[in-house]
Amino acid sequence: MSPLIYILEPFGGSTREHSPALPMLFWDDAAVTRGDGVFESIRIVAGTPVNLDRHLARFIRSATLLGLPAPNPDHWATATREAAEKWASLHGDGEAACTWTMSRGRASRPDIPSTWLVVKPLSEEILRQHAEGVKVLTGPRGYQLTKPAPWSITGAKTLAYAENMAALRYARSRGFDDVIFTDGEQVLEGATSTIITVRGNKIRTPQPGAEVLAGTTQALLFKRALKAGWNCREKPMYYGDLLKADQVWLVSSTRGAVRVTQLDDAPLKSRGDLDTVRELLGR
Ligand code: PLP
Repeated sequence: MSPLIYILEPFGGSTREHSPALPMLFWDDAAVTRGDGVFESIRIVAGTPVNLDRHLARFIRSATLLGLPAPNPDHWATATREAAEKWASLHGDGEAACTWTMSRGRASRPDIPSTWLVVKPLSEEILRQHAEGVKVLTGPRGYQLTKPAPWSITGAKTLAYAENMAALRYARSRGFDDVIFTDGEQVLEGATSTIITVRGNKIRTPQPGAEVLAGTTQALLFKRALKAGWNCREKPMYYGDLLKADQVWLVSSTRGAVRVTQLDDAPLKSRGDLDTVRELLGR
């Protein structure tokens, strides 16, 4: 299945489809040379984007933190709905992943961001992880966030993921599927996901902040779980909390919820109804 690419006019207006067989970015685009830009990954189900308002809000927040022009929410929502419908008309109602990207644009053309979206199928690896769960290695991020600098962009979902990808490569080279970042005994987040624990009627997640991206999937889960009578709270989470939990999940938009079956060398037994978290997320 070929991806579907739409190039958006950065200041509103038209959207045009771009052939995935043709090059798209210039050599001096900040996405390529600096990883200077922001992105969102959105789940598509049956030709409809999921959790769109939360993604729009975070995309605007991320762009603003980087001093990029604020994306026009109507423009992005319309382009995404069009792309999702076209994807469903071509490939049916299965799930797909949509990525929005806004980079600072070409060095030779200041102040004009590059803006595009891509819809593509979920990978085989994601489908396997849904079925089997994931083995997770924990470790420090490798840098310490002390007092944020005045120019800090923490909280933005930026294109600069090389550090997280390095952590994933390291984990995979040692037979694991994923990584949870820790700070001493405190657990923070996955390399590309939010941590969720279930214990009795309690659902917990580490408090978002400088070292924990505020996840749109976790926010949707908490909204629905609260409505269904669960006790949900964002609070500092520790290694021991993962070992004591009935279930530990990694959640993110395109991957949904995958169950952690092993934490470092310890197999994690899961107790209780294993469908709850996925049912609350609508899958
Ligand atoms: N934390 C990090 C570092 C991420 O990269 C992601 C998703 O890409 C998440 C958390 C989960 O965010 P969301 O649920 O909005 O996809």
